[in-house]
Amino acid sequence: MIRKICSIGLFSFLIIILTSFVVEKGGYVVKNNGTPTQKSRLRKIVLDAGHGGHDGGAPGRYSTEKEVALAITLRLEELLRAQMPEIELVVTRRSDIYQHPTTKAKIANEAKGDLFVCIHCNSAPAHKHREFIGYKTETYYTGKGKKKKKRTRQVKNYRTYTTPNPAKGTETYIWGAHKNDVKEIAMKENESLYLDSTLAKSVANFDADSPEKMITLNLKTRQYFERSAFLALTIQEEFKKAGRVDREALQRQVGIWVLQAVAMPAVLVETGYISNPEEEDYLNSKEGQTEIAQAIVNAIKRYQYSIDNKSTTVASPKLK
Ligand SMILES: [Zn+2]
Repeated sequence: MIRKICSIGLFSFLIIILTSFVVEKGGYVVKNNGTPTQKSRLRKIVLDAGHGGHDGGAPGRYSTEKEVALAITLRLEELLRAQMPEIELVVTRRSDIYQHPTTKAKIANEAKGDLFVCIHCNSAPAHKHREFIGYKTETYYTGKGKKKKKRTRQVKNYRTYTTPNPAKGTETYIWGAHKNDVKEIAMKENESLYLDSTLAKSVANFDADSPEKMITLNLKTRQYFERSAFLALTIQEEFKKAGRVDREALQRQVGIWVLQAVAMPAVLVETGYISNPEEEDYLNSKEGQTEIAQAIVNAIKRYQYSIDNKSTTVASPKLK
């Protein structure tokens, strides 16, 4: 017992000695062996639950996209806090409120996030069917005036009905590369986000449209595009590992303005099809929400490792 207490004491002492050698120095953590380790490039993530308030998003049979998106976002926040506690999280909404995309972008830019993750779910129009159910008698007239005669004939009778679209699975979007100029403007307006302090000082005296600034903007935009593409592909890989149907990482042409408006890498995850009854149940279940959130956490861990250790260059996702 005493030996145990002694060893615990010695252990704690060693821990205190060792940790005292880890000194923070202007963005670098200097370990006791003297080699500086750069701080992670991923320190703050902005999580955004799509839709909200009067904007319900896509409807299911009993749930709406805004509810599912919020539940998955909050689950994602929980898992990230538990598994990546060093990362600071900002959540755009925690309740059923409407936020204009410009509000969402403002929250993300003011928070100076390193990554923006939007959670949505997909929907596909119901399939229309026409089924022959027999003949019915139709009345029609021939001739005019006194010659007018009432006649009947047999015509085919159909019943029309709809069935849910069987589309299912996940897609992860990034902004279209052709929108990089829009992204560049967002970057220009929020340059403090991507310019590190040394670079910020050196470019501070240039006017906004100086070639030096434009090149920096252009390079950063391209780098953020590559990082976003890498994360989108990694999220899809993790969904596939979890047994989901992988509908690819794609560049979206329209409808994801917010991804261009934030001055940071950004992805939009379509977590499943609320229009598919099976997936609506999955999206609303605790297990489903946890599985989706965990796949995204796994991808974010790989993303962080990648941007901290090597290049994230990947083939660009297809345009949709
Ligand atoms: Zn949506």
